[in-house]
Amino acid sequence: LLSMVCTALLLVLRAGAVKITWTAWRTRRLRRALARGQIQAWYQPVVRGQQGLVCGCEVLARWHLPDGRIRGAARFIPLAEQSGLIVPLTRLLMRQVRRDLAHMRVWLPPGFDVAVNLSAAHAGSHTFLRDCQRLQWLFRGKALKVTAEVTERVVFEQVPGGAGLLKALQAAGIRVMLDDFATGHQGMSGLDMLAVDGLKLDRSHVQDLHSTPVSQAELIIRLAHLMSLEVVAEGVETRAQHEWLLAHGVREQQGYYFSPPVQAEGLVACLATGVFM
Ligand code: C2E
Ligand code: CA
Ligand code: CA
Ligand code: CA
Repeated sequence: LLSMVCTALLLVLRAGAVKITWTAWRTRRLRRALARGQIQAWYQPVVRGQQGLVCGCEVLARWHLPDGRIRGAARFIPLAEQSGLIVPLTRLLMRQVRRDLAHMRVWLPPGFDVAVNLSAAHAGSHTFLRDCQRLQWLFRGKALKVTAEVTERVVFEQVPGGAGLLKALQAAGIRVMLDDFATGHQGMSGLDMLAVDGLKLDRSHVQDLHSTPVSQAELIIRLAHLMSLEVVAEGVETRAQHEWLLAHGVREQQGYYFSPPVQAEGLVACLATGVFM
């Protein structure tokens, strides 16, 4: 029995070691990809109202592999967050965003809103606030708006520096939106909604509009409106969802129905012609 226990223990330890090496290897690859400029900023248009006019965009990270394949954010952002690489990664994206938007300056409507995802690892680092401000300064007079999308505000505020950063962002005129609200194991807590400017209605709720007589989406929208919060819907894929959301007062929408995330040239095309609906 003793030998069996010992063998089992050894196996567990070895599995742990393998996992650590595997993570270290993946982290090294990601760091190298960053250094080689393989992580790039893509943009998903946000549309306002019924005419398909683009009023903003969300910045989403993509990994351009040397063989031409594009890797989605879900495949490497969690690793970037665990390893702390999310801070330099976001800096790199913000630099690209400044460059890309400068090139499409003439196409940007006044009040164009650029949304960037913020991770808890950014708490305690001043680079995010500074990079957002740099973007604002670059477009002085054009009234470019900058939005920070934060998931799990409660977790964020427990990280040292987290609450301070959210306040500093808002003081600098940067809109703070709650991302992934009431998804997964998180409940629908009104507390989460205090001290943010608005929330993103998650894709899972948009896809579930008619599952129950009163959907989660409807409850969330009502709660948000009661608290005078802005609502932006994500993951809008059908005309029915688009119209339902409009009818319920959600004018800013984002999703494959309008456009998938695209590279800078694609965003210019959307700005120039509007999105096809
Ligand atoms: P998110 O912030 O909730 O972003 C929305 C995700 O839904 C994006 O996935 C987007 O491509 C996808 N999406 C948009 N419209 C539709 C639709 O109509 N249907 C469907 N099925 N999906 C749609 P993506 O780009 O793979 O990003 C996944 C998550 O990774 C994001 O979720 C965000 O939490 C995180 N992420 C992405 N880029 C960054 C980044 O630069 N920094 C940080 N911190 N997180 C990022
Ligand atoms: Ca987001
Ligand atoms: Ca989401
Ligand atoms: Ca979450």
